[in-house]
Amino acid sequence: MVWDVSFTCDICGKKKGEANHWWMVVLGEVPCFEEGQPAVRFTLMPWNAAESRNPAMYHLCGQGCAMQAMERFMTTGEVESDLAPNWR
Ligand SMILES: [Zn+2]
Repeated sequence: MVWDVSFTCDICGKKKGEANHWWMVVLGEVPCFEEGQPAVRFTLMPWNAAESRNPAMYHLCGQGCAMQAMERFMTTGEVESDLAPNWR
C-alpha cells in the first residue's frame, strides 16, 4: 500500500490540491535572552515535499493563512488552530 498522506491547512482546514502554493511553518527554539521574552522563532518556508511529513511542520494553504499563522504566533505564541485536525 502506498503511503499517501493528504495534507490539510493547519489554519483553515483546506485540503491540499495538486497545484497550489502551499507554505510550511516550523517553530524553533531560540536562546532566551531576556526574562519574559518568547523563546520561540517562527520560520516560514516554501512547500517542500521532503519536509512536508515532518510532524513539526505546520502546513499552510497560501499567503492568507501564512499571515494568519504569523499573527496568531505573535499574539499567542502558537500556530495551532482549533479547526485543524489534531494529527500530531
Ligand atoms: Zn488555509
